[in-house]
Amino acid sequence: MHKQALWTVAELEGAHLRDTSFEIIARGRRLADKLGVPLISIAIGSGIEEVELQRLIHHGADSVAAVDTGALQGYQTETYSNVLTSLIERYEPQIVLAAATVNGRSLLPHVAMRLRAGLTADCTELDIEEETGNLLQTRPAIGGNILATIKTPEARPQMATVRPRSTLPLPEDPKRRGEIERIPFEAQWHDRRVKKLGMKENTVEQLNIQAAEIIVAGGRGMKKKENFSLLEKLAAELGGVIGASREAVDRAWISYPHQVGLSGKTVVPALYIAVGISGAIQHLAGMKTAGEIVAINRDPQAPILEIADFAVVGDLFQVLPRLIARLREERQL
Ligand SMILES: Cc1cc2nc3c(=O)[nH]c(=O)nc-3n(C[C@H](O)[C@H](O)[C@H](O)COP(=O)(O)OP(=O)(O)OC[C@H]3O[C@@H](n4cnc5c(N)ncnc54)[C@H](O)[C@@H]3O)c2cc1C
Repeated sequence: MHKQALWTVAELEGAHLRDTSFEIIARGRRLADKLGVPLISIAIGSGIEEVELQRLIHHGADSVAAVDTGALQGYQTETYSNVLTSLIERYEPQIVLAAATVNGRSLLPHVAMRLRAGLTADCTELDIEEETGNLLQTRPAIGGNILATIKTPEARPQMATVRPRSTLPLPEDPKRRGEIERIPFEAQWHDRRVKKLGMKENTVEQLNIQAAEIIVAGGRGMKKKENFSLLEKLAAELGGVIGASREAVDRAWISYPHQVGLSGKTVVPALYIAVGISGAIQHLAGMKTAGEIVAINRDPQAPILEIADFAVVGDLFQVLPRLIARLREERQL
C-alpha cells in the first residue's frame, strides 16, 4: 500500500456499506487531488463482499484496503482501534478521515489518542493550505457562533471526522478501476476484554428524517403542540415526515429525533418546507443543502426567505389549511 496517502474509513452495517462511506470519499477525493496523493478507502468488518468494496472505487477511491474476519463482526471500538492504529503505524497515511457517526466519533478519537495525533471532530469543511499542504479543518465552535479552522502542523496523521450529510457522494462510475488489497487480521488485534452480547433495536423512535425525501418542518411560529397536527396533515398529503426547529423541540411540542440543525440532524431531502421557522444559522446548518426549500413565514425579513426557492409571506394558520385543501383536491381529481 502507498505511504503518505489520504485515507477514508468506510463504515459497514452488517456486510453492507453505509452511505457516509461514499460521502467522505467525495470529501477526500478533492483533497487527495490537491495534494497529488492516492485516496485509499479502509474497510474493516466481517463478510464484506467484493462488489461492496468495488463500489468504494466506483465512488472515487483509488484503491481499497480491507481487513475482514469473524472477530470484526459488528463495530467494537477496542478491536477496530487496534486494527486501524496498526495499519496507520505501518503505512503512515498523511490524512485519515471518517464520518462523524456514532462509530466514527468513537473510533477516530481512540486511534488519535493512541497515536498522539490530535483530531478535529464533526468538520463541516475541509481544505488544503496551499503553502504547507496542511489539512484545514473547519467546524462550528463556541456554541455554533463562529466557524473555527484548525490545523495540525506537526503531528501525523492529520485526523478529522466529517459531519454526515454535509456533502453528497460522487456519482457512481462503474468504469473506475482500482486495487483491492485484503490485509490479514492479526490475532493480537482482537481485544477479548470486550464481548458483544447482542444488539437491541430502538423500536420506540423509528423515525429517520435523514432518509426522508420530503420534510415538513415547524418552528416557534406553530405556537403550540396541537398545531403540529396541521404539519402532519400536510406531510401526509405529500408523503413526507415532520422536522422541527430547536425552539419547537425545547418547548416539547415534538421529540428530539425530529430536530434539524447544528445540534440536531443534517438533512438533504428533495423538498424541505419550513413553516414558522426564522432561519437561524444553526437551523440552516442542518437543511441548507436540501433540493427545494419552501418557506412559510409572516415576516418578510426572516432570514429563511433568503435561501428559500419559494416563499409564502403570510400567516401560516391561513396558508396551511388552504395548501392542505388544495393538495387534497388535486389528489381527488
Ligand atoms: C449551539 C446552538 C445550537 C443550536 N442548534 C439548533 C438546531 O439544531 N436547530 C435549530 O433549529 N436551532 C438551533 N439553535 C437555535 C437557533 O439559534 C434558533 O434559536 C432557532 O432555530 C429558532 O427557532 P425558530 O425559527 O423556530 O424560532 P424563531 O426564531 O422564534 O422564529 C419563529 C418564526 O416564526 C414566524 N412566525 C410566527 N408566527 C407566525 C405565523 N402565524 N405565520 C407565519 N410565520 C410565523 C416568525 O416570523 C419567525 O420567523 C441552536 C442554537 C445554539 C446557540
